[in-house]
Amino acid sequence: NQTILLASRPTGEPTAAQFKFETSEVPSPGEGQVLLKALYVSVDPYMRGRMNAGKSYVPPYEVGQPIAGGVVAEVIESRLDKLPAGSVVVGNLPWQQYSLSDGRGLQQIPTDQAPISYFLGLLGMPGLTAYFGLLDICQPKAGETVVVSGAAGAVGMVVGQLAKIKGCRVIGTAGSDEKVAYLQQLGFDEAINYKTANIAEALAAAAPNGVDCYFDNVGGAITDAVYDLLNKHARIALCGQIANYNATEAPVGPRPEGKLLTTSSKLQGFIVSDYLPQWPEGVKQLTEWYNQGKLQFEETITEGFDQIPAAFLGLFKGENTGKAIVKVA
Ligand code: NDP
Repeated sequence: NQTILLASRPTGEPTAAQFKFETSEVPSPGEGQVLLKALYVSVDPYMRGRMNAGKSYVPPYEVGQPIAGGVVAEVIESRLDKLPAGSVVVGNLPWQQYSLSDGRGLQQIPTDQAPISYFLGLLGMPGLTAYFGLLDICQPKAGETVVVSGAAGAVGMVVGQLAKIKGCRVIGTAGSDEKVAYLQQLGFDEAINYKTANIAEALAAAAPNGVDCYFDNVGGAITDAVYDLLNKHARIALCGQIANYNATEAPVGPRPEGKLLTTSSKLQGFIVSDYLPQWPEGVKQLTEWYNQGKLQFEETITEGFDQIPAAFLGLFKGENTGKAIVKVA
């Protein structure tokens, strides 16, 4: 039974040296417990923040302790009535092949509606981030121009499709020509490779009528360029800043406050758990649109428990299109 621990805290971009594998016996469930076998492990950008010491909206991982995150698992032995053997669950679990749980925080998931790994993606945390961030904070209206950065990732690809459902003109930025082609195929009106384009010029050309909504997954230079194009009463959902997660010094750049002020724009940061009471409603709507063929989803699936660190590190190199997932069993 393998477990992955945090070996040390990274400075700048994390490397394989931050992870340590440990082997132990497969445990037996006690009264009121289940034995879980991990099937799919989610690797997510927010985990980078948890590798740092210090207070944030989720506690940091501790050095020498297991890393944990979203996992889809199967109950293989049960001494807990509400979760019989064979149940498939999603929850926050350690990066461990077999683990024990008392069932708290685990959610049983249906196996007949969508691939079960989608409960780590479209029908899980990233899909809900897109859903509430776009629909509640940006409130896009038909005919408006929506920009989403990190558009070919798990959150971004859902944001763009939701904005299309709402009748908007949608512009996405992503880090390769393959991702740009993928976004065009998904129905984005414009897609820009931020690594090769002059981002300010390309965005201005793609948004001749300015920008009404911006869903910010990355921050940095892309965000600076979008702010220059904001229309009156623009809405910005500040979701992520992956361009800065590995920064070793405070990032400096244009100060957007003047532009926000003169356009009467609204900028709101949010954490998807702010919407926890509404999650079931979000999952229901996303499932419906998926079943109606209005939403597509993409995963980059890496195979093997030992590949979890590499899949995580790949997030910062843009190796994933759609949701980065590791299939471990
Ligand atoms: P993604 O699937 O988008 O994976 C990360 C992607 O970020 C990479 O594929 C890469 O794509 C891009 N990227 C990496 N480094 C940079 C960089 N320096 N500049 C620009 N882009 C970069 O991840 P998620 O969809 O899971 O998350 C997207 C964002 O949303 C993250 O910032 C994450 O922290 C945030 N988030 C926030 C939540 C909240 O509650 N507020 C919840 C979930 C996610 P590319 O090839 O395009 O560079």
